[in-house]
Order: sequence, then structure tokens, then C-alpha cells
Amino acid sequence: MTQSEDRFVSGFVSILGRPNVGKSTLLNEILGTKVAIVSDKPQTTRAALQGVWNTPGAQVVFMDTPGIHRPDTTINKKLSQDVAGALEGRDLLLLVADCRKAPALEDERAVELLQRVKTPALLLLNKVDLLKDKSRMLPVIEQYGKLGSFQEFFPISALTGEGLDTLKQAIVGRMPAGPRYFPGDEITDQPERFFVSEIVREKVLRLTRQEVPHSVMVQVENWEESEGLLKVAAAIVVERDGQKGIIIGSKGSRLKEIGTEARLELEKILGRKIYLELFVKVRKNWREKPDYLREIDWKT
Ligand code: GDP
Ligand code: MG
Repeated sequence: MTQSEDRFVSGFVSILGRPNVGKSTLLNEILGTKVAIVSDKPQTTRAALQGVWNTPGAQVVFMDTPGIHRPDTTINKKLSQDVAGALEGRDLLLLVADCRKAPALEDERAVELLQRVKTPALLLLNKVDLLKDKSRMLPVIEQYGKLGSFQEFFPISALTGEGLDTLKQAIVGRMPAGPRYFPGDEITDQPERFFVSEIVREKVLRLTRQEVPHSVMVQVENWEESEGLLKVAAAIVVERDGQKGIIIGSKGSRLKEIGTEARLELEKILGRKIYLELFVKVRKNWREKPDYLREIDWKT
């Protein structure tokens, strides 16, 4: 194993922002392809994989955050646990805003939501190419700063590429040590196994709060379909015995809760009855074992 593999980082990122601020343009720029973008199609799944960005030392998985942009689900009206849970499961959130405009109500709501989850957030002030006098951005930054705490502000232009190298470095710099969830550049659609893993992982993170690190991984070990029933067995892989105990909980209560919540959500996403069997595996330093990572087959 080389040193660079030792320090491989990976994580899940969601881009938020109201329509037309440039989210899709930004994502296209980062991914370097138009193929991965599914944003204008109606969401058939609730946790859409938007694209996987690979660099030599990092893999960043962009996930849509379902529910946030639906007009009937304004954030302040009903901050659903689902949305909050999804955001908690991310490693980084990017709020995109128009650098020329004071925060509108939707922006305020988005910032409010970000304040309620513990996931770090960056504010991206997009369309700087349209601003002749850059100092006009300062009051906008100040107004956003008053609304909530962002780790950093980035003036960017998703269209011209201005500021994107700095932003990309900042994103990678905030990813935790982790595996290459997806092999190479092969993923173009939304493999169902990925959702099973991602949603179970999300429930683990949410229901264990800060007690289990984000490096926890969920590996689908068995997948069987018959007569409208999907039977899935999945292992929650942690690195320490203590983490195993936390996930299982007293008399298995927490693992049961994780399983029930994941199953109910997956049944909605995948549109069929699911029998979900979960167990916890301790694999010490699994992230440093390339063979183990190769065993993981994300494709259905
Ligand atoms: P989304 O609704 O947030 O996904 O926004 P889009 O990515 O679809 O962009 C909305 C419009 O803004 C499109 O016409 C883009 O070409 C344009 N746009 C996005 N980013 C920039 C930018 O940095 N500068 C300029 N001038 N236009 C941009
Ligand atoms: Mg879009």
C-alpha cells in the first residue's frame, strides 16, 4: 500500500440552493461531464445519487437532498426528519447563492436548516462573473454571515470556472478518511444496492448521533428477489468493538430501530416490500485493507 492510498479520503456532499443559482452548472463543472446530471428529471428516488467525483486521493459522492426543493415542502413549514436526517448523513453541505442578491426568504430558510444540523457547510457565492464591482458582494456576505455560521465563503463562477480550483481543494480538504465507495468512473446510474447501503448508513449515523464515526460502512452481502419481496442482508462495518456495541444497543434495540427505519424508507424508494437483515461486523482498520474494498460489489 502506498502512502497516498493510506490517506485516501471520501465522503458525501449535498448541494443546496434555490432554483437558478447555478447548482447544476456547478456540479457539471466539478464532475467534468454532463452525463451524470439528472437534476431536471423528476425524482424517481428520494435519495438521488447525482454523481461521483474521483481524484487521485479522494472520492466525493454528490447526493441530492430529497424534499428540500419541493415547493409543497417549504423548509420552515415542516422540517421533516427525513431531510434533517439526510443532511446529517452528509460530510459537507454546499449552499449556493447568487452573489449579487441579498438572501431571499428561501435562502434564509436554507440557512436555518443548515443551522439545525451539525454537518459543516460552505457558502458559495456564484455568478461573480456578472459582478463588475466585486466589493458589491461584501454586504451580501455580511447578510449571510448574520443568518448563520458558515465555515467559509467562496466567490465562484460555475460558468467561467473562476474560484473553482480553490473550492475543489476545500471540498477534498474536508472529506474524512474513507474508502473509494465506487470503483473508478463506472457508475452512471443509480444502483439500488447503493441506496440500501447509503440509507442504512444514514440511519446508523443519525440514530447513534456522534458516537459512531462517518467512516462506518454498510456492505450488502446478499440480495434476493422473489414474488415482489426483496430480501437484503447487509453488514454494518465498524473498526472497533465499542462501536459495535453502540450500534447494537441494549438488547439489540438500536439495531432494530436502524433496521426498521431503513426498511420503511427503502420500501418507499424501491417500491416493494423488503426484508432487511442487518448485522454488525468489526473489521479492524478495514480502510487500510485494499482486498476487502475489492470485495465490495456495488453493482446490481
Ligand atoms: P440550478 O437551478 O441551481 O441548478 O441552476 P442552473 O445550474 O440550471 O443555472 C441557472 C442559470 O444560471 C443557467 O442559465 C446557467 O447557465 C446560469 N449560471 C449558472 N452559473 C453561472 C455563473 O457562474 N455565471 C453566470 N453568468 N451564469 C451562471
Ligand atoms: Mg438544477
